[in-house]
Amino acid sequence: MDADCIFCKIANRSIPAPLVFESPDVVAFQDINPQAPQHVLIIPREHYANVGELARSGQQALLGKILSAATEIATKLGLDASGYRLVTNTGKDGGQTVKHLHVHLLGGRPLGWPPG
Ligand code: AMP
Ligand code: ZN
Repeated sequence: MDADCIFCKIANRSIPAPLVFESPDVVAFQDINPQAPQHVLIIPREHYANVGELARSGQQALLGKILSAATEIATKLGLDASGYRLVTNTGKDGGQTVKHLHVHLLGGRPLGWPPG
């Protein structure tokens, strides 16, 4: 738990946000500023700054749980046929603004490539 981290507070329910998915290790909630008709953030309950920090800490299995949760949510949202994108912005050039690892699930419209 990072006392200044908004996603830690969402995960431990000290900031109320409706959860679209919950498991012992992972939670997911709607992005407050959605960039697509469906925009969900999937996070580990435990604080890791980014995907590299998690992998280096020996918790690689948690990455699988996060991605499994993302695919489960995509199916629940009816995105399997139309498709979707999973992305985890990392660091300054990656455009990361919240320093608690999160995977964006985006869908519901065609998404451009390459990203800006
Ligand atoms: P990133 O730029 O990849 O770090 O993404 C951070 C995301 O968190 C952005 O899409 C924000 O809209 C989203 N966000 C920030 N604060 C909240 C919040 N309190 N609840 C839900 N989403 C948030
Ligand atoms: Zn955190």
